[in-house]
Amino acid sequence: SMKLDATDLRYVTSDEFRVLTAVEMGSKNHEVVPTVLIVQISGLRNGGVNKIIGSLAKRNLVAKVQNSKYDGYRLTYGGYDYLAMRALSKRDSMYSVGNQIGVGKESDIYIVADLEGNEMVLKLHRLGRVSFRAIKQKRDYMGKRKSASWMYMSRLAAQKEWAFMKVLHEHGFPVPRPIDQARHCIVMEFIDAYPLRQIDEVPSPGKLYSQLMDIIVRFARAGLIHGDYNEFNILIRRDTGEPIVIDFPQMVSTSHENAEWYFNRDVECIRRFFRRRFRYESAIYPRFRSTMNEAGEDDFQLDVVVSASGFGRKEMKVLEEYMETTKEEQNSEGSEESSDEEEEEEEEDEEVGEASDADDAIPEFTEGPSSSKTAYDVTDGTPS
Ligand code: ADP
Ligand code: MG
Repeated sequence: SMKLDATDLRYVTSDEFRVLTAVEMGSKNHEVVPTVLIVQISGLRNGGVNKIIGSLAKRNLVAKVQNSKYDGYRLTYGGYDYLAMRALSKRDSMYSVGNQIGVGKESDIYIVADLEGNEMVLKLHRLGRVSFRAIKQKRDYMGKRKSASWMYMSRLAAQKEWAFMKVLHEHGFPVPRPIDQARHCIVMEFIDAYPLRQIDEVPSPGKLYSQLMDIIVRFARAGLIHGDYNEFNILIRRDTGEPIVIDFPQMVSTSHENAEWYFNRDVECIRRFFRRRFRYESAIYPRFRSTMNEAGEDDFQLDVVVSASGFGRKEMKVLEEYMETTKEEQNSEGSEESSDEEEEEEEEDEEVGEASDADDAIPEFTEGPSSSKTAYDVTDGTPS
C-alpha cells in the first residue's frame, strides 16, 4: 500500500527530513505552505530545497498546491505517517511494519514489531477521510486554527485515545496495553482475538453478556462512558474468551450533559447484538441513575484523571464537535449505521478548484488490506 511504502521510509536523507519537517511546521498556520517559507524554516539553500521538495512530492510525502495567490506545498498523510513512524522508531517503540489488519472509516491498523520481533498494533488515526465539507461550513469552533483540518483532528483523536487507554490500563480495565503515541499514531499491545462481530457462537452467552455489562458499570463508576461500545470494538481473546475493549476516541465523562443517553446507547448496542446473534435476552441490564448512585466514595474519577493528564476539557470539546459534525454529515449522506451490512467506504469526489483545503492531500484508500508479507525497518532516516 502506498502510504507505508518501504522505499519511502528508507530513502529519506537528513536534508529531506528537514524540509519535510519545515512543511509540517509551516502548516500550523498555512493551509498551503508557501515555498519561500519552507526554504526559510528549513534553513537550507533555495535551490537545494526546490530539488528536495520535488523528490518528496514524487514520493507523495508532500503535495504541490497551485493557489490563486501563490504556489506551495502541504504535508500528505504519507508525509505525516512518515514523521510519526520515524519518531516512534527513534524511541525504539517500533522497528518494522507488517500487514495492514484493519481499515476503518477513521483509522488504519497495522501489525508492527519491535527490534526483538514482538508484534504490536499501530493505529493511525485518519480523521477527515470521509469528508471535510461539513467542517468547512462549521469552522468557528476551531477559532484561529483555520488550517487545522485532518492533521490536527487526527492528532487530537490519537492523544485522546492514548490518554484514556493509559488510565484505563493502569486501573485494571480489560484494554490493550498502550505502548507509545506520536502525532496521529498509537502503538499498543496486539490482542490475539476475534472481534465479537465475527463470532457466531459462545459457550455461554449469558456469561459474556454479564461480563460486558459489568465493564459498562465499572466504566461508569470510574466516571466514564465508552460511547461506541459495540461488537466491532469488543475483542474476544482467542485463548480465554475474555473480552477486551478497544477504540476510545469518543469516550465521554459521566458528567457530560448527554451522559445518560450515551450510557443507554452502549447498553442497548449490547442487548441488541445479543438478541440478534445469540437469541439471548435478559431483563437485567444496568441503568445510568442507579449505577451512578451506587458509585462508591473511593471509586477513581478517571474522567478527572484524564483531563489532568494533558488531554483537557478544551481538547475534548474540539474533538467532540468535530465528531458530531462528521456524524451529521455521514447520516445526511444516507450511510446510517443501523444497517447490518459492512459499510463500504464512500469515495467522494471533492470539488475541484478549492485547492486550499487539506482533503485532496489524502492519498487514495480504495485498496483493501495489503496482502504483502514484507516487513521493513523504519529506523533509518538516512540511506546507508
Ligand atoms: P476504528 O476506529 O477504525 O474502528 P479500532 O481501534 O476499532 O479502529 O480498530 C479496528 C480493528 O482493528 C478492530 O476491530 C480490530 O479488529 C483491530 N484491532 C484494533 N486494535 C487491535 C489490537 N490492539 N489487537 C488486535 N486487533 C486490533
Ligand atoms: Mg472501532
